[in-house]
Amino acid sequence: MKSFDEAPFLVIWELTQACDLACVHCRASAIANRNPFELSTQEGFRLLETVREFGDPLMVFTGGDPLKRPDVFPLLEKSVQLGLRTTITPSATPLLTEAAIDRFQRCGVARMAVSLDGPDAASHDGFRRVEGSFARTMLALNHARRIGLPTQINTTVTRHSIGRLDEISKVVRDSGARLWSVFFLVATGRASASQDLTAEEYEEVFAFLYELSKTAPFDIKTTEAQHYRRYVAQQRKAERRPAGDSRHAPPDVIQRQAGINDGKGFVFISHTGEIFPSGFLPISGGNVRRDSLVEVYRHSPLFLTLRNADNLHGKCGECEYRNLCGGSRSRSFALTGDYLAEDPRCVYHPKTEGSGKRVERATPPPPVAGPVEPLVQVQPEIFR
Ligand code: SF4
Repeated sequence: MKSFDEAPFLVIWELTQACDLACVHCRASAIANRNPFELSTQEGFRLLETVREFGDPLMVFTGGDPLKRPDVFPLLEKSVQLGLRTTITPSATPLLTEAAIDRFQRCGVARMAVSLDGPDAASHDGFRRVEGSFARTMLALNHARRIGLPTQINTTVTRHSIGRLDEISKVVRDSGARLWSVFFLVATGRASASQDLTAEEYEEVFAFLYELSKTAPFDIKTTEAQHYRRYVAQQRKAERRPAGDSRHAPPDVIQRQAGINDGKGFVFISHTGEIFPSGFLPISGGNVRRDSLVEVYRHSPLFLTLRNADNLHGKCGECEYRNLCGGSRSRSFALTGDYLAEDPRCVYHPKTEGSGKRVERATPPPPVAGPVEPLVQVQPEIFR
């Protein structure tokens, strides 16, 4: 794998913000219709060719609902033909038919991810605010399993779902999904900070996930909870397990994720071509219509600043885990307006905190550069 300075591990393209769901945690009101300024099919082909210049990052097609674009299948085929490991995160709407899932497989899609925010129809549909969403999700998972298409389940942890995680994990197990991606809320758009957990509750969820990971038949990873890696490192140290010891543990996923953060091993292309460090950090480093994606990722001040953990402020800048973790840059921005601020949802106190040994910032952060667009897409259907 290339250095994160050279290439992202993960490229996410938001094909459209159009979606027929109306999720509680949406960044903005869901849009039923497509934006006329979305990247065209030809622009999409060019984008995929540019992504290939990075090597072979994981290529994720997300939305909105990617199925709202009639050209989604030719775009998927192009991605696979280019040799990109390609995954898709459709919404569980009437567009997600068995025929559509069959076609994902024929296109060569490596994995399909769907969202599950409750263990039953009442809780899931209440969150997604569309009746029948849970049933469609289960039908899609069952069909994918029948035809042998690997799946991933994404769950957002909020006040709504924190008490149901154990039940949800059993649905994940029974579905045969390969990965449970547990997303921690970033308070943007319709998602409000009041739906978020406290820093202490984050630790409780980390403890649950860590214990579960010892026996679960699926991998577990977190999204926008980079400090789960710190938690795992602490547990492994407490259990006196050597770094290479893979007994009962999730270290493969943790090691694959190590150091990945917004703009560091990760890049997000919006529906109109803006190059963001994350779908939840709407600060643009450029636009693929006028700028080279590769150049922006490797050399723009925004991305360079984000990749240097010594630039972080507060306790994240002092923390001995800053290169492994670094905190959620998206959450810091959403809650403080400073994308380099310490993660407000981390309980950890670095060993050097308050000792005056604060690491100096290597470079000043760039100003917040526009255009900053409201992101409608909510789904954390990302493979990080
Ligand atoms: S203080 Fe910051 S870098 Fe350290 S573990 Fe917490 S979030 Fe991560």
